[in-house]
Amino acid sequence: MPQNKSTLFTVFLMLPLALAAACAQTTPAAPANSGSSAKAESQKIAPIPGFDTSIMNTTVDPCTDFYQYACGKFAAKYPIPADLPWYNQFENLQEYNHQLLHGILEQAAKPSPSRSSSEQKIGDYYGSCMNTAAIDADGLKPLQSELARIDALKDKSQLPSLLAHYQKIGVNAFFDFGSMQDYKDATKEIAEVDQGGLGLPEKDYYLRSDPKSVKLRQEYTQHLANLLHLYGEPAAKAATDAQSILALETSLAKVSMGMVDRRDPYKTYHIETVSTLAGTDPSLDWPALIRDTGAPPITDLNVANPAYFQALNGILQQADMATVRNYLRVHLLDSFASRLPTAYDDENFDFYGRKLAGVPQKQVRWKRCVSATDAALGEALGKVYVEKYFAGDSKQQTLDMVKTIEAAMNQDLKSLSWMSPETKVKAIEKLDLITNKIGYPDKWRDYSKLTIQPNDALGNSIRARIFESARQLDKINKPVDKNEWGMSPPTVNAYYDPSMNNINFPAGILQPAFYDRNAPEQVNYGHIGAIEGHELTHGFDDQGSQFDGHGNLKNWWTPEDKKQFNARTACLVNEYDGFTAVDNLHVNGKMTLGENTADNGGTRLAYMAMESYALRHNIDITKRMGNYTPAQQFFIGFAQNWCSNDRPAFVRMLVQTDPHSPNHIRSNGVLRNMPEFAHAFSCRKGQPMVAAAPCHVW
Ligand SMILES: [Zn+2]
Repeated sequence: MPQNKSTLFTVFLMLPLALAAACAQTTPAAPANSGSSAKAESQKIAPIPGFDTSIMNTTVDPCTDFYQYACGKFAAKYPIPADLPWYNQFENLQEYNHQLLHGILEQAAKPSPSRSSSEQKIGDYYGSCMNTAAIDADGLKPLQSELARIDALKDKSQLPSLLAHYQKIGVNAFFDFGSMQDYKDATKEIAEVDQGGLGLPEKDYYLRSDPKSVKLRQEYTQHLANLLHLYGEPAAKAATDAQSILALETSLAKVSMGMVDRRDPYKTYHIETVSTLAGTDPSLDWPALIRDTGAPPITDLNVANPAYFQALNGILQQADMATVRNYLRVHLLDSFASRLPTAYDDENFDFYGRKLAGVPQKQVRWKRCVSATDAALGEALGKVYVEKYFAGDSKQQTLDMVKTIEAAMNQDLKSLSWMSPETKVKAIEKLDLITNKIGYPDKWRDYSKLTIQPNDALGNSIRARIFESARQLDKINKPVDKNEWGMSPPTVNAYYDPSMNNINFPAGILQPAFYDRNAPEQVNYGHIGAIEGHELTHGFDDQGSQFDGHGNLKNWWTPEDKKQFNARTACLVNEYDGFTAVDNLHVNGKMTLGENTADNGGTRLAYMAMESYALRHNIDITKRMGNYTPAQQFFIGFAQNWCSNDRPAFVRMLVQTDPHSPNHIRSNGVLRNMPEFAHAFSCRKGQPMVAAAPCHVW
């Protein structure tokens, strides 16, 4: 949802559904998936065990390509389902969780007087989403009042009220307005306005001139024309109007900030008064617009990209009203496509799923409706999920493991040769202040004010978005709630939040392959341990290191130490720039720096923690246990986090939009920098898995 302004919130991996939703601004699983057959419907997914020799290809030399050694048979064993852009360990576990949630929701959807209020909400949300017969029969009727608002838009003075309404219902148009934790005073929640309003994933999609990008732009324009045609415009007029929308969005793209710049918190932090913003962009009545969003009274806010709003003024003044109305129509239709008649849903998938992500088939409806319910009512559904499926002791076991990794970081910081004692004290202070959130919230979110009705798919979606937008805006001027979760409990992911200075591991990821109580500890350290280390290291990557232990954007480094740190991160930028992601497309070392730092540091910390575990338990990590030594098992476990079968079009999109490196590189890029790995597999200098000049930040 555009209202969630945690722009620096670093997640462990980009899930395709999240990306799809971000592209189309639909609540959950809009584009990338469905349709597939009874086969996919009946296929039962099980978690992959923590250490799986059946997916290894041991004919490959581990010193030549360790990813192929550890994961070489994964693609043959796990073909990509027609409704997904890739298949990997995360996706497999996500599919498994989907099955569990499916069971919960099918049960909750059955009308019964004994349903609790939560069961009624999740059941009817899911049930109404599933009822495509009713959705098709209703046509555009449920959206009529929204469409009428656009028809009634005669001149630009009416825009602020409509755009405020779009912020409430989560439709992406011209900008995003919401709340955020103040970067420089983490005790405060403030309002924020940011660039927005693009239908393609980010600015460069509008500006690149290579043949693939040009073709994709043509396909996007055709998609816009198809939407307008479906809506009732004659085809020729729809084609011309689509060109005008593309031109309008291109003008927004040109003045938007790029992916690399947006990673710098100083570049997206500009506290201004509302009247300064109003002076910058007089095309919109900002005080009225902000009031109409339902935000509490404010005098100032963060204007993330002031230059954008300066330019927006000119763009809006020059834009003709017919184009603005068409722009708003297509964004509205795309945003709610999955709750509209099949033709709209298919059109949305055809572009965002098939053309942009390279996925052949839409996902079966139940999976999309499970994701939709998780996105709208995540903590109501998550509470049942946790009660039914989250083993009580997993929380304590994970916490114990995190503690050993924090201890490893403490030891690592103390032993650094390049950091002065002065900065070390601050770094350890920050480390000690990191809080760990594991599994699920201590206090569950209250949805009692959200009305969910049977057979009202669109209405439910709109009300859920208004509820979420109001929840976000209600935070402004109030104390920060440190117990809040940014992910629902069943999510197969993890994150670090620099303003909160906390690491978060939802229950969904604390299962095999990532955490397997039947696997030896050295394997679990390679799996979930490396993920825990990754999140911890985010607190000290190029972005996180600019925030102090209290979550404030405040320098705690001496100039000399910062110089040393920058030289070390520059090594990673250079190294990852050299990696080929797909075809001739290289990784963007600057865009992925934070994630690569976290991958490298996190794996090293997990290895150190594993070593001290072994020491405490008298385990010789160089002595074979079965076919492999414990050290080797750690690295196989780690590399198997990244076993993946990817569609090239999807990887192409990720390389341009995702701050993470591609999966095989998240394995090999890290290992070639680790002498411990070379030692475990007797790799020699000069072999591909041994970097000539290894990079080492943490
Ligand atoms: Zn990360």
